[in-house]
Amino acid sequence: MPDNLPPGAKHDGEGFATRMSHGGRAGTRAHGFVNPPVHRGSTVLYPSCEARVSLGARSLEQVMTYGTAGGPTHYALEDMVAEIEGGTRALIVGTGLAACSLPLMAYLKAGDHWLVPDSVYGPVRRLANGMLTRFGIEATYYDPTIGAEGLRALLRPNTKVVYTESPGSHTFEMQDIPALAEVAHAHGAKVLMDNTWGIHHFQPFRHGVDVSIQALTKYVGGHSDVLLGSITVNSPEDWAIVAGAAREVGHYASPDDCWLALRGLRTLAVRLRHQEAAGIAVAKWFEGRPEVSRVLHPALPSHPQHALWKRDFTGACSLFGVVFQPRHTAAQINAMVDGLKLFGIGASWGGYESLALPTQPSITRTAGGGMALEGPTVRFHIGLEDTDDLIADLAAGLERLPR
Ligand SMILES: *Cc1c(COP(=O)(O)O)cnc(C)c1O
Repeated sequence: MPDNLPPGAKHDGEGFATRMSHGGRAGTRAHGFVNPPVHRGSTVLYPSCEARVSLGARSLEQVMTYGTAGGPTHYALEDMVAEIEGGTRALIVGTGLAACSLPLMAYLKAGDHWLVPDSVYGPVRRLANGMLTRFGIEATYYDPTIGAEGLRALLRPNTKVVYTESPGSHTFEMQDIPALAEVAHAHGAKVLMDNTWGIHHFQPFRHGVDVSIQALTKYVGGHSDVLLGSITVNSPEDWAIVAGAAREVGHYASPDDCWLALRGLRTLAVRLRHQEAAGIAVAKWFEGRPEVSRVLHPALPSHPQHALWKRDFTGACSLFGVVFQPRHTAAQINAMVDGLKLFGIGASWGGYESLALPTQPSITRTAGGGMALEGPTVRFHIGLEDTDDLIADLAAGLERLPR
């Protein structure tokens, strides 16, 4: 009987697709229905006053005490995300950005300093320069390709967090996470990583990460219809800090959204397998085009940190950048994107549909020596359409560019 395992049991040793299919299901315990139901609720009824006290004392466990402590739908998704990330426990929050901000609020306090890669997801920069600065927490931006020595030179006695994201948003620089983590840990700082691009292809806890963040909004949801984030840890101490902070602040995710994410997970492995190959095929096709200066895709040998991707990742997703030749103006590239038939123009990624997003207004670099983009740049997300159709659409677009 499939999935008659006790709650939390792991499918150790089985392949990713098998684990995504069989994890987080109740088996015959939920009347035999294949999928877990949506459990909605605020109030949880206790059998007695005494039970209320004893259950309340275990509020950071998967124990139902009140809506904000989660319910079976949340716990099923938590277990699955912990499985994907290779950590002990995961917390689900309402958005990917909330998953970025919560651990920062949990680990940092007034007077602390933290290090932020210059290629960080834009809204994290806004948070660093806005609310966290207002709360007396100082950020220093660093070149994401900095080595161990460079990072060490930026550490201060009060540096408590080294934030990482690999590859970086929009510019796709790869970071040497194990080397940076070693330096951070020797200093007593925590290593936080936004692992949204890597999904299961990067196992953060095998590479020195303490807290791994994912926007489940992307490939886990997979259908551009749900926003969720996850924070995964690998020790009871980190769980107490992160989950404790979530309870203080009042984070919560809708069980309906968790249910959608669980549904997305069932097909994650096959979608990723297809989209990885399609993304690489389109990226390689771009590399052969005269209108293109560079393709920013870590899985291509031309990527400056391709060796790091090869060493640390088992695969790629289907998000990459294309830097066009400087002879093309941004207006020309925008017009080309406007004319594409199969590529939507929009933020986010990881859905079943392809997207193209000019990145010029989204890129800020302040660390100095940051990546200079020689021409107009577009971020592409490759969906589940036929790859030949996508390439034909792109080829027609490039043919429309002024010669
Ligand atoms: C989209 C994204 C997020 C935030 O996810 P939301 O659910 O949209 O808030 C965080 N990090 C990265 C790298 C992202 O691309």
